[in-house]
Amino acid sequence: MYDSYGRDLHYLRVSLTDACNLRCVYCMPEEITFCPPASLLQDDEVVTLVRVAASLGVDKIRLTGGEPTVRRGVVDLVREIRGVPGIQRVAMTTNGLRLAELARPLVEAGLDQVNVSIDSLDPERFRQITRRGNLDEVWRGINAAEAAGLHLKLNCVVTRGFNDGEVVDLARLTLTNRWQVRFIELMPLGSVADFQQGQVVPSAETWARIEAALGPLTLAPGHNGHDPARPYRLANALGQIGFISSVTEPFCRDCNRLRLTADGRLRLCLLRDDEVDLLAPLRAGADFETLRQIMAEAAYRKPGGHRLEENDIARSREMSQLGG
Ligand code: SAM
Repeated sequence: MYDSYGRDLHYLRVSLTDACNLRCVYCMPEEITFCPPASLLQDDEVVTLVRVAASLGVDKIRLTGGEPTVRRGVVDLVREIRGVPGIQRVAMTTNGLRLAELARPLVEAGLDQVNVSIDSLDPERFRQITRRGNLDEVWRGINAAEAAGLHLKLNCVVTRGFNDGEVVDLARLTLTNRWQVRFIELMPLGSVADFQQGQVVPSAETWARIEAALGPLTLAPGHNGHDPARPYRLANALGQIGFISSVTEPFCRDCNRLRLTADGRLRLCLLRDDEVDLLAPLRAGADFETLRQIMAEAAYRKPGGHRLEENDIARSREMSQLGG
């Protein structure tokens, strides 16, 4: 599936629910009403749309949310998606709270990789950022994921005044663990965009802090050109450090992603509001070929890039409704 800029779109991020068991300050407002389950894609509808995407060349799926692990039946859904012809990799982005119980069943169902979001190593600060989270539970989830053999990356959104003083401690985790720790720049989106814009920490600043404390970072081998995080390594480290600099160094030219929202819209760019409804035609009985055509035509219209540099901010949805 190609867009009008010639980008090969073969990676679909599927939001399984807009609901979450945390309320991270940079992701959603404190008071939020989640969608009624009937308005969201049902399991068979998710699988149908993954089949449509796979028939157009999508080979990688990432399940996200909201929080994907709060969706009922998530393990069976992973198994079904992994069984779709053409799908070669299924990953998940999660806050890790339910991984202690789910990591093993998810691996058995075919999950290949998990990205766990962890923004602080301090229990109090973690609670402040997530407005309710228990850091011990996240660590139990990370350990369970590792024990289950999942390829593991840790996501850390750097937010000024919250955790920018902790990036060195988070980077230090890579000295003794084979994980990739990824520092993500805060992206402005939805109703909390003004707060987000004020708290962005450029990757260059995070990088400088880490190097000042832990020594030089060198490029690690094996970069997949479409991965937004170029991997680096500290001397003698087992793991890697990545920087996702969507605000200060956009990588839209190499974007290979489309997103499916939990309510069945194909979102063409995370940071632009362009969406195409797939749920309505699906429920109106559109056949496979029609859905294929709608998806391919929509994908062709994927915007060339976000327009944050022009201060053009997408406000129609929260990040929690899109899955990052
Ligand atoms: N609940 C899951 C989780 O915590 O990973 C999946 C959904 S969450 C929206 C996906 C990722 O987006 C997380 O790593 C989260 O930290 C990140 N994120 C949320 N809001 C963001 C923002 N405004 N800018 C950058 N990343 C953000």
